[in-house]
Amino acid sequence: MSTLKLRKQSDGFVLDYGYVRLALDTGVEGETTLLTHAHADHLKGIENAHRVIATQATREALLARGHKLRTRFEILEHNERTGQLGVVITSLNAGHVVGSSMYHLQFDEGLSVLYTGDFNVIDSMVHVAAKPKAADVLITEATYGAPEWIFPKRQKIYEQILTATEETIEAGRIPTFQAYSLGKAQEAIALLQWGGFNVVSGNHMITEVCKVYNRHGSDLRQSSLGSERARNMLKDGCAIVSSSFHHTRKNIRAHLDSGTAIDVLGRLEHFVLSGWTLGDSSKTGFPLSAHSDFRGLLRFAKRVSPRIIYCFTGNAAEYSGHLSKEGFSAVPLE
Ligand SMILES: [Zn+2]
Repeated sequence: MSTLKLRKQSDGFVLDYGYVRLALDTGVEGETTLLTHAHADHLKGIENAHRVIATQATREALLARGHKLRTRFEILEHNERTGQLGVVITSLNAGHVVGSSMYHLQFDEGLSVLYTGDFNVIDSMVHVAAKPKAADVLITEATYGAPEWIFPKRQKIYEQILTATEETIEAGRIPTFQAYSLGKAQEAIALLQWGGFNVVSGNHMITEVCKVYNRHGSDLRQSSLGSERARNMLKDGCAIVSSSFHHTRKNIRAHLDSGTAIDVLGRLEHFVLSGWTLGDSSKTGFPLSAHSDFRGLLRFAKRVSPRIIYCFTGNAAEYSGHLSKEGFSAVPLE
């Protein structure tokens, strides 16, 4: 029986088992990369790969975010399989951002591995929750892998965001939500749109990623900051979704005449959309996260029911400790 070896490389991993070598969210010359999604911390070194396996939406999200794809892409949609000598690879929905995947590996020798990348076990306005699949080995993110990170119900967070939007607009101000340009910005736009608010996109990249979402089933109708429509919305009442307050302020100065720009800048009310706002009273915002919270991570791990769990990202050591208390053999990958 071969031994599974996992080595950290950049922010991803290189997995060796028998004669199979796979790069997970990183790249190794001459080898296959399993790419989970298009966030920057999962892309380091993928240009070195012989081929990159990902969904079509992930490929499009990369292009939308300005990446030059110089590597051969093999599209593997959710619930489809591919393989190479010694292993069958299945892509599974990760519920994190558009096209995000987990990978289930079934080795010929019998061992099975589930690699989650970043994942969310909660349904959202634009993503379907990740579902666990049984495996002998679980390689899981642990971003919020500590008991203080338990988020309120999604519905509750949505209600709070919509109430804040309404109150801010009624006060003559412009609620401006900061969210990652891939994933949370689109969730925020979908929510605000559903709540009946006009939405202006504060960054070009958000607009480009929205087009990817719309090609894959969403119906996002935000207006770009420079458009006539957006200028009217900023006058009459709207929300802005932005990945960077700094860039949005710059864009407002670039696209509006100076009198209007001064007026709009003076009316912006900032809110951060991030799970981390839960533990940071200096940030005004809402704990909207694209990751599973502690309870979600734990429930997911129990349902995968692995013999061993490898944990990565921020709270890997702490989460491993909790998993050990639950009776799992757990190891932080740091
Ligand atoms: Zn991510």
